[in-house]
Amino acid sequence: MHTFEFVRAESPAQAVGVAATAKTAQQGADIRFLAGGTTLIDLMKLNVERPTRLVDINGLGLDTIEPTPDGGLKIGATVRNSDLAHHPSVREHYSVLSQALLSGASMQLRNMATTAGNLLQRTRCAYFRDTAMPCNKREPGTGCSAIDGSNRMLAILGTSGHCIATNPSDMSVALATLEATIHVEGRSGSRAVPIGEFHLLPGDTPERETVLEPGDLITHVTLPPPVPGSRQVYLKLRDRASYEFALVSAAVVVSTAGGSVTRARVALGGVGTKPWRSPEAEAVLVDERVSDATFRRAAEAALRDARPQSENAFKIELARRCLTHALTMATAG
Ligand SMILES: Cc1cc2nc3c(=O)[nH]c(=O)nc-3n(C[C@H](O)[C@H](O)[C@H](O)COP(=O)(O)OP(=O)(O)OC[C@H]3O[C@@H](n4cnc5c(N)ncnc54)[C@H](O)[C@@H]3O)c2cc1C
Ligand code: SF4
Repeated sequence: MHTFEFVRAESPAQAVGVAATAKTAQQGADIRFLAGGTTLIDLMKLNVERPTRLVDINGLGLDTIEPTPDGGLKIGATVRNSDLAHHPSVREHYSVLSQALLSGASMQLRNMATTAGNLLQRTRCAYFRDTAMPCNKREPGTGCSAIDGSNRMLAILGTSGHCIATNPSDMSVALATLEATIHVEGRSGSRAVPIGEFHLLPGDTPERETVLEPGDLITHVTLPPPVPGSRQVYLKLRDRASYEFALVSAAVVVSTAGGSVTRARVALGGVGTKPWRSPEAEAVLVDERVSDATFRRAAEAALRDARPQSENAFKIELARRCLTHALTMATAG
């Protein structure tokens, strides 16, 4: 590993000030915030990330979970994934989030991984992690090794001719259905970004993954008040039962009355270049009878724009079945 300077942040403002001198907040940034380190240190060991300065944000007191005045929840940026998954309010009112977190990584990793770090985890595309291979995301303009290479795990929605990498986060898929807001402290003050606008599609700049600018520190995430009577499911399908990223996953938050769907929030994981909310599936579901046929139509709508690569066409039908099954589970009995 290369050498770097280690700085302990004393306040959010000081952390922002230090990081604001970085050339970019994205891939290749020379100054990085350090939270749990489970993505960043991993990639530094592989020489994929080579920051010259690490700003440790673990002492900033951003590790609390509190109710908000409107009945929602405020989750600090450095709250550990385990603490969030087991928090009584999350288990009771936002169970899709708890289920998604507990389906990810291992207990040891979840004990270190943080809310903000999880939102910003990098793709698991093997070529991104191998500095001997061309990769537009790691080194813009070098090409994409995955398009004609090994792409079984990669995306079928939101891809471009420059990058087909999947966003690997389970937590972010659940946050999409909960309509979370990301709160950022930056050079020109604080701002709130809806989760649907936080991650970017690769387009012709796959090295740019989020709307963050140099110095931007995620301070917390808020969830709106829970929807009374909604049922929530996170269903993750993968090559082995634990310690594995999703081949496909589905998060659903559904309300029903009199045998019909009254409200639906649907998102998919493992298939998109960003956490993939599906307004198309939601539109099919609302005001329709709870039935296999309705759920199947919603799943067809969610995958209508899918563009498979050479090795991952199977994900289309797998994702349809995953979403259909998640909706069945959420509305059963
Ligand atoms: C073996 C393995 C298996 C895994 N399996 C899964 C899985 O199945 N599902 C899943 O979803 N995830 C999985 N993960 C990923 C894991 O969830 C992430 O590594 C973790 O959530 C990252 O959080 P962190 O706090 O460790 O981030 P860090 O590594 O500390 O940081 C990640 C990035 O976020 C930036 N950052 C951190 N905090 C802030 C902040 N407050 N503001 C601005 N920038 C910030 C850092 O600068 C860095 O660029 C796995 C990881 C490993 C190593
Ligand atoms: S899919 Fe994206 S991350 Fe993977 S090799 Fe291509 S450009 Fe790199």
